[in-house]
Amino acid sequence: MTPTLFPSPAWPTVPVLGEVAAYPVHRIFCVGRNYAAHAVEMGVEVDREAPFYFTKSALAVQQSGATVAYPPGTANYHYEMELVIVIGAPVFKADRAAAAKAIYGYACGLDMTRRDLQLAARATQRPWDLGKDVEQSAILGPITKAAAFGAVGPQRIHLEVNGQVKQDAHLSDLIWKVDEIVSHLSGFYHLQAGDIIMTGTPAGVGAVVAGDVITGGIDGLEPVALTVGAAK
Ligand code: MN
Repeated sequence: MTPTLFPSPAWPTVPVLGEVAAYPVHRIFCVGRNYAAHAVEMGVEVDREAPFYFTKSALAVQQSGATVAYPPGTANYHYEMELVIVIGAPVFKADRAAAAKAIYGYACGLDMTRRDLQLAARATQRPWDLGKDVEQSAILGPITKAAAFGAVGPQRIHLEVNGQVKQDAHLSDLIWKVDEIVSHLSGFYHLQAGDIIMTGTPAGVGAVVAGDVITGGIDGLEPVALTVGAAK
């Protein structure tokens, strides 16, 4: 091995139900506008021709239960509750059936977002990175294997802030289905184990403040939780 000038950081990991070994996260892809009611609340039309994506650095990963300081550069930090697809095998230019076979499992995730910066970028047709690729902004619950979860569809997806329900929908509301997303994205990337895809959020997004406790759940998956700490 080539010596390195400083220690190469380890990939962040997420626990897997029924496994001693954890799942290391390499890349985080995120789908935009995948629930019609959320697109409406964001004042935009759903693009029905193809899904679109943004990314977060793997360094954004935090395990469920973390307390994360309110981030710098925003006055409108939002929660987004999402189903997370966990890839477990190489998949490239795959059809939907082959794409489905590459799905290792699912998890609950929070795509925390500097909404003010995202919307400013959107308005000026600039990239969303400052709004979306926020440090410690991808909070992930434990992974449940796909076979144990079963078919994606009727499960309820919900999020509470301090126990009050803010988002409440069903996975059947997803515009782009999980196999469609993996199939489409595999046309652009050599997806492989270590890649995860956050599939978009239902309506009801909103701002958090220091001290808020965010909890999210999807029927059949382990929940996700985040406590918002004071700004540093
Ligand atoms: Mn999102």
